[in-house]
Amino acid sequence: MSDRPIRAPRADTREVLELKQIKVAQPELATAVDMQVALVDMQRRVQSRVPLPRLQAAADWLQAQQRAGRPLVRFDDIPLDWTDFRLTFRQTADILRRFEAIDAAEHEQIVALGRDGNVLEPLVRRWYTATSGVDGPDASDARDRTPEGAPPSLDQVLVLAIRPFLARCAEALMPRAELQAWTHGHCPICGWEPDFAAILPNAERRLICGRCVAQWSGGALTCPFCANDDRALITSFATRDGRYRVYACDVCRRYLKAYDGRHASRPVMVSVDSIATLPLDAAAIQRGYLG
Ligand SMILES: [Zn+2]
Ligand SMILES: [Zn+2]
Repeated sequence: MSDRPIRAPRADTREVLELKQIKVAQPELATAVDMQVALVDMQRRVQSRVPLPRLQAAADWLQAQQRAGRPLVRFDDIPLDWTDFRLTFRQTADILRRFEAIDAAEHEQIVALGRDGNVLEPLVRRWYTATSGVDGPDASDARDRTPEGAPPSLDQVLVLAIRPFLARCAEALMPRAELQAWTHGHCPICGWEPDFAAILPNAERRLICGRCVAQWSGGALTCPFCANDDRALITSFATRDGRYRVYACDVCRRYLKAYDGRHASRPVMVSVDSIATLPLDAAAIQRGYLG
């Protein structure tokens, strides 16, 4: 017998514990939970290595961006270490493949793109510039965001792989006044769309970016996708326990899920709440809204 102490297994984070609870309560979501645990774990490890960027942008440039509705992070502001990004890109593709979210042929194509540094770097730069709108509408033609013939899931892999790097930009910019004044439907940090929301105890609705997880205030009943603010044309429904809510727009037919924090015991946890609400997506789609 060895008298060396047995090393305790690494403690699960709060997020992982909550995700595992979903698996117990809703066994049909087990695969989605397992994939999310793998992604969250990988992203947390990467993010801990990414330095907090010192964003050099001048205050008047930030204000001009904010007034024009353009996000505040330029591609060169992102603290991207290419060796680390390439690894994150590869691991993301591997996790999606392992849980069959992408097929073998797509995985192979994506891995090949990631292997070639001369291809990946300009590809990521072009994709970020086109999808953020940071340089204005002329530079943001979403049609050529990815190279011709690239698999459709490349977008998803890029969103997940760049998240740990962009999330550090969001952390660095969060205290800036320009961010407090932002009320557009798209993200003030990276220009992406919200894919979740949180209702605060004071009934304010915060939108949460689907790429960098920054949060900002959007009108409580304004559709972030088309700016429709006619209450009669927003359909809202809640889960039976009141924990989650859907806001569906009867103009553009898109919808947004939200965590209702008004009577909750914890704040929103996007990685957990987006999985717990997968049945709500089905309900919204069944009512004719677009997933
Ligand atoms: Zn963002
Ligand atoms: Zn809309």
